Amino acid sequence: MLYCSTRGDKQLYTAARAVLRGLARDGGLFVPSDPLPTIALEPLASLGYIERAAAIIQPFLEEFSFAEIETMLQRAYGGANFSHPSIAPLHRLNDDLFLLELWHGPTSAFKDMALQFLPQLLTGAAAKTGENATPVILTATSGDTGKAALEGFCDVPGTRVIVFYPEEGVSIIQQRQMATQEGSNVHVAAVRGNFDDAQAGVKALFADRALADELSRRGFKLSSANSINWGRLLPQIVYYFSAYLDLQNSGLINHGEKINFVVPTGNFGNILAAYYAARMGLPVKKLICAANRNNVLTEFFNTGLYNRNRPFYRTISPSMDILVSSNLERLLFELAGRNPAQVKEWIRFLQEKGAYRVEHDTVKVMAEMFWSGWADDDETIAAIRNTYGEYRYLLDPHTAVGKAVHEKYRALTGDHAKTVIAATASPFKFAESVARAVLPPAQIAGRSAFELLPLLAQSTGMSIPAPLQKLDRLPVRHRTVINKNEIRRGVLDFLGLN
Ligand SMILES: *Cc1c(COP(=O)(O)O)cnc(C)c1O
Repeated sequence: MLYCSTRGDKQLYTAARAVLRGLARDGGLFVPSDPLPTIALEPLASLGYIERAAAIIQPFLEEFSFAEIETMLQRAYGGANFSHPSIAPLHRLNDDLFLLELWHGPTSAFKDMALQFLPQLLTGAAAKTGENATPVILTATSGDTGKAALEGFCDVPGTRVIVFYPEEGVSIIQQRQMATQEGSNVHVAAVRGNFDDAQAGVKALFADRALADELSRRGFKLSSANSINWGRLLPQIVYYFSAYLDLQNSGLINHGEKINFVVPTGNFGNILAAYYAARMGLPVKKLICAANRNNVLTEFFNTGLYNRNRPFYRTISPSMDILVSSNLERLLFELAGRNPAQVKEWIRFLQEKGAYRVEHDTVKVMAEMFWSGWADDDETIAAIRNTYGEYRYLLDPHTAVGKAVHEKYRALTGDHAKTVIAATASPFKFAESVARAVLPPAQIAGRSAFELLPLLAQSTGMSIPAPLQKLDRLPVRHRTVINKNEIRRGVLDFLGLN
């Protein structure tokens, strides 16, 4: 399997080179240039998560032997990294509706599913290619990616990791998780602005030839832990297959029965992995793209207009507060019949006008696979409250957006196919909003997010994930705050090159 750019660069890359680069030379995203493999489900049914993952991932990583892939997966998902033996267990709400809990990793959000694996893959890739420059993992985060990248790369020999997060755009717990990060190779800075500012600043550095030359002279090379990196998407394909197999094994679905997946979406990475899974033979009926009030994607799927010229809202699902969903470019590439000229035109419009429109026929093609809706904060809170009331199960606000959108979908379409909602974060990671939904106001008043954790645990009987339990007692180690035009200098400073 080789990889090409969505924007037409003629150069093909092996997996190792694509993962090391992050972004193609022309600013495009790497996608498989060969047809996607078809995965036979039956042989995977009796296997555990890691073995399933090895079988699904192998066709994409030709330079790695099966044993090497298993070792990398074992390091990522084995040991004590994940607090649940199934890694990504399903929780049954009722016979039609299931939650795929993707938050049992060290940072309590689904980003760990990819970011525990990516360091293995990157260091493995560096060994394969004989790359001896130190990879600098440069990451813009809407909250969860940053901590997951820091945790994944912390003290991984021969790597540096630099994280930029929007100063006002992350929850108190997310902020504290990053500010207290340990490790001798990690750097963290808050950026004055929102996630799109941080992401645009970081993306610009990847296209900056002068910076690349300067870094290369000093023995460094930029790489990305954002979901623009193919190495992020690949491990995310696995859990859609695994969830389906688990349902089949429990007799809850028939062989070949098509099911729906609901994915709370921001940068379009997680749902894109589901799309690839469907293209690889997973029986999927609909992929339901759930957005919050920053509903760019909902408008896009319904009308064909992608328009970022709109107010940016801060919501209680901050990891989805995004107006430019980078990974959509990979879907556009497929929708355009893999024609990079068409992709380039859309992207040029997006860059110059902040908007583009796809043809009516394309909207129809998208509608065969995707449905999109959105939920505002009140609907999100109501979904947390109602789900707790009905099932005694706590949703985090992102997952709750998914639940609320699924209800709309069912009401509008009458589709009662079995459905799996991607549960993307632990409710404790967003304790303030969750407490607002399920506890009486008098109990919450005046309490910090950290004080709410034990209160939520006591009143619901759910346990606080271990890494969040001690968070408020860890020393703060990172206090840098910069303007969005200082990101480049920040990188040089962190690497000691100024
Ligand atoms: C990152 C994130 C999302 C959005 O995922 P994308 O891959 O960016 O679409 C949703 N929920 C949580 C909790 C997240 O951390």
